[in-house]
Amino acid sequence: MKVLRSVADARAFRAASANATIGLVPTMGALHAGHASLVERAVGENDLAVVSIFVNPTQFGPTEDFAAYPRDESADLALCERLGATMVFAPSVGELYPAGDATWVQPGPVAARLEGAARPGHFAGVATVVTKLFAIVRPDVAYFGQKDFQQLRVIQTVARDLRLGVGIAGCPTVRDGDGLAMSSRNRYLSTEERRSALALSRALLAAKDDWSRGERDPAKLRDRVQRDTAVPGVTLEYVSVADPLTLDEIEAPAERAVISVAARVGKARLIDNVLLGMALEEVA
Ligand code: AMP
Repeated sequence: MKVLRSVADARAFRAASANATIGLVPTMGALHAGHASLVERAVGENDLAVVSIFVNPTQFGPTEDFAAYPRDESADLALCERLGATMVFAPSVGELYPAGDATWVQPGPVAARLEGAARPGHFAGVATVVTKLFAIVRPDVAYFGQKDFQQLRVIQTVARDLRLGVGIAGCPTVRDGDGLAMSSRNRYLSTEERRSALALSRALLAAKDDWSRGERDPAKLRDRVQRDTAVPGVTLEYVSVADPLTLDEIEAPAERAVISVAARVGKARLIDNVLLGMALEEVA
């Protein structure tokens, strides 16, 4: 497995494998089994699999955890190698944002609500860095987790609108045995906070049960998640019942929906979601 740190070397890697299909998994490192599931798919579905590891400063707000974000490159590289990745691209900030850098990819309405509203500028940062990675690695397919559902939709929309020619594949959320969606930020949780955090996945699962019993009223589904997450230690930021493609809030009963939650638990800001009435593969 190659570890490349410069844009020039990554471009040369692509040029040397011009006839190979490449699957790219963009990550911010501190890899866990959720990331691993994406890498496994990239390895299985392409000639070559590339993992990028880059904690992208432009997607963090001024009061967010950029400096404290967990970093563990040697463990990340060992995992990528074990999973069969061909190359890890781990550039410095200066490589992706050269001096004087002033160009942004500004995503449209799909980025406006939910995480976009809670974290102003976040999706412009994500869309910009992912577009740069696509321009450098020129993958055939890139893999994104359902865990960050709105991000998946933002990237699908950017890839379509900018005619990037990269397929965007969504991969199911990987959970710990207790149901908590895996996240690099779970490292911030104490044992007790972790217990509180389980309310998120539990509430989403309960709403999914309601849905499978025929509940389609978005207000009732929203109420259910709000009630079930009202536990000590959890400060809810939002509960949303939205259309899975536009992420517009649903006000009338619908046959497909994504329920998303964001909450603070201790120092961590956690998000989770459940997709209803639609398969992840249909989200495109
Ligand atoms: P991050 O390193 O947090 O930027 O995540 C990199 C990629 O891994 C994104 O596409 C995430 O959606 C995905 N990812 C993170 N956590 C999970 C998870 N628990 N299950 C599936 N995919 C995940």
